[in-house]
Amino acid sequence: MKCLKKYIKKSLYLQNIDMVRVSWARENVIAGRQRYRCNNKPNSNLKGLGTFECPMWKINENNKGSFDASGFKIDYIDEDNLDKSNSNLQALCNYCSSIKRKKVFK
Ligand SMILES: [Zn+2]
Repeated sequence: MKCLKKYIKKSLYLQNIDMVRVSWARENVIAGRQRYRCNNKPNSNLKGLGTFECPMWKINENNKGSFDASGFKIDYIDEDNLDKSNSNLQALCNYCSSIKRKKVFK
C-alpha cells in the first residue's frame, strides 16, 4: 500500500514535470528575467539537478549560460505544480531540462 502510494505520487509527479505549459509571453518573462540564460548556473544546486553542470555555462565566451538555438524549457523550481506563479518557474536549457526529467524517471 505504501509502495502503491509512492508509485502514484511518483507518476503524478512525472506528469507534473511534463505539464509545465505557459503562454509564450510568460515563457519570455521568465527567460527574460534570467537574461535568456539557463537557471542552472554554476553552484546553484537546483532541485533535481544537484551538482550537474550546465554545458551552456561551460563555454568560454561572454554569453556564458545563454540558451543556444535549441531554446529552453520552463520548469517548476520547487517541483510543486500547484504553484504556478512566476516565482516558482524557471527556464532551463534543453540539456538541463532533459537531465532533470531523466533523473525523475529513475
Ligand atoms: Zn542548462
